[in-house]
Amino acid sequence: MTPAVTMTLDVEDLRPSAELPERVVAMTHLVLDLFAEHGVKASVFVVGELADRRPALVRRAAAEGHEIGLHAHAHLPLPTLDPDAFVSLTGDARARLQDLSQQSVDGFRAPMMSLVPASAWVVPLLSDLGFSYSSSVLPGPSPLYGWPGLPRRVFRWADGPIEFPCPLVRVPGLDIPYLGGTYLRLLPDAVRRFGLRRAHSDEALWAYCHPWEFDPDEAYHPHDFIGNLASRVAWLRRSRMERRVRKVLGEPVGPPLGEIAESLDRSRLPVVDPSAPQSLGAMARWANGRLRQR
Ligand SMILES: [Zn+2]
Repeated sequence: MTPAVTMTLDVEDLRPSAELPERVVAMTHLVLDLFAEHGVKASVFVVGELADRRPALVRRAAAEGHEIGLHAHAHLPLPTLDPDAFVSLTGDARARLQDLSQQSVDGFRAPMMSLVPASAWVVPLLSDLGFSYSSSVLPGPSPLYGWPGLPRRVFRWADGPIEFPCPLVRVPGLDIPYLGGTYLRLLPDAVRRFGLRRAHSDEALWAYCHPWEFDPDEAYHPHDFIGNLASRVAWLRRSRMERRVRKVLGEPVGPPLGEIAESLDRSRLPVVDPSAPQSLGAMARWANGRLRQR
């Protein structure tokens, strides 16, 4: 049986300059239309700055029953931020999203999965700021941001929120975030199906996508922080994206991550101390070994 996959959307405006046409509004409506057509309730993570500028996007997503989460105040990698500024900007952004959505905003997603050992200081602050869960880590090696050694199943940060790590599938020599936007778009669908067959029941499976991935007409421009090669990859094969996401939406779709977080028994989750990543080895091997045994 195909396991259920929760749909998530990261709403961000990656234009390098405000002089370029703003395409995020139309593209976000297109994705929300797709979700509505399939009757899917997603977790929609919105960048705070964009929510301030385009509040109607948040209001529409909330009115249609999606969970609203925060995709940081600005779309910057966490290791580049100052902790004091992070606290005030993130707290304000969460409060404004709650006002706009009339929901409790419980979920945080780091830009570019940039919760890594160098930004582990964020973890206790997320709890202090009122987030009950995060989906901000890629628990393997990555050319951008990854944290190898973390469990691949849902876990709990010591004195911090629940973490839903990005689902990975192991193929010889590689760990692939097979349900993630770029990978959904570029890899053969057989990789996704293979990953779903290998998935363990302890994993919370979630797919992610971005409004810009549905936009084949946007001119190419390099993005800060990810370099020219990754920017090129982000620009490729966008005309496929809608078809690929329709496939995911046409199969069993799980509830928003916030609902899953509420249903979990926290006492049964593995606990990870973010300040001691070197001590993760045995526990991570245990958790990951359980996945591989299947
Ligand atoms: Zn993002």
